[in-house]
Amino acid sequence: MQDVSIPRVNLLGLTQPKLEAFFESLGEKRFRATQLLKWVHQLGVLDFHAMTNMSKLLREKLSQVAELRLPEVEQQLDSVDGTRKFLIRVEGGSAIETVFIPEGERGTLCVSSQIGCSLDCSFCATGKQGFNRDLTAAEIIGQVWLAAQSFGQLRENGPRRITNVVLMGMGEPLLNFDNVVDAIHLMMHDNCYGISKRRVTLSTSGVVPALDRLGEYTDCCLAISLHAPNDALRDQLVPLNKKYPIAVLLNSAKRYIQGLPDTHRKITIEYTLIDQLNDRPEHAHELAQLLQDVPVKINLIPFNPFGLVNYKRVSNNALKRFQTILIEAGYTATIRTTRGDDIDAACGQLAGQVNDRTRRSERYLGQVETVRVLGGL
Ligand code: SF4
Repeated sequence: MQDVSIPRVNLLGLTQPKLEAFFESLGEKRFRATQLLKWVHQLGVLDFHAMTNMSKLLREKLSQVAELRLPEVEQQLDSVDGTRKFLIRVEGGSAIETVFIPEGERGTLCVSSQIGCSLDCSFCATGKQGFNRDLTAAEIIGQVWLAAQSFGQLRENGPRRITNVVLMGMGEPLLNFDNVVDAIHLMMHDNCYGISKRRVTLSTSGVVPALDRLGEYTDCCLAISLHAPNDALRDQLVPLNKKYPIAVLLNSAKRYIQGLPDTHRKITIEYTLIDQLNDRPEHAHELAQLLQDVPVKINLIPFNPFGLVNYKRVSNNALKRFQTILIEAGYTATIRTTRGDDIDAACGQLAGQVNDRTRRSERYLGQVETVRVLGGL
């Protein structure tokens, strides 16, 4: 009988080396780790008894000492544009949000790394909620598992819908370093999701000491949430800038990208345009000047208004003008189309729910109604 005083190990978020150490601690061969990773992350099997290439004895032992525990999907909302948002309940009662955005052959999953966020960027709905806790590696990779499962991807020859992952959901990934790095390893591992290092992107607001260490652990792509061309403006939008100003951040980002084995990789610069605040031609010229020695592509994101701040969405004219100035200065500058607006899944709108069940339920009931009306369901 299971000793209730000893918690079972959750194997869901363990990387290959950690799983190998786990199996060795059971007196088993290391290759069991490969078998388990394939069952879980490629075939979606969570029941040890169904892992038929392991002996009955081992399966019995696993079910006594270990578990494969996922967070729970509480709501799945489908936008009229194909965007799918998951509200995922994690231990402790809070909820996080994960968003899938299809685009032609590509499907990008935007994953959360923390419950809430401590950095309080002035334009971000997540930041307004405060911080609850870091997600575990199991809860981060669990978002990928749950989304893949919802598309029927986790089976032999299942459709490969999730081709890209961006760590741009709730939270600052570099403040949850170890768990994020483990989850990235699982996303990229050939025995798991096999997503290319060029298709997994970590987005940071600029936690420079952690960014300085990142290259020792992974070679994923990097995005910087910049949003301003000078420190005075960025201090208002991203308070972390007061600690790690733009020049320090860009130097750290350059070191990361230059340390990668493959050349020609670029840093994605995310720039959220807010009406009358950071959207003027002089800001675009200043940005072009600022980035002239940094290998970048620039992603312009129209601000998505939400209730708690007075900022307004940039006008289409200002947005196009800003883009044109950057392109004329020689940059690749794209405009991120707003997706999933009808289900509050657009950038900066992810709010999840930090330990407040009632408020969330009311909010989501409202959203489900909206989706029904727009989708004609
Ligand atoms: S933009 Fe990112 S880092 Fe800033 S408050 Fe929102 S989740 Fe946190």
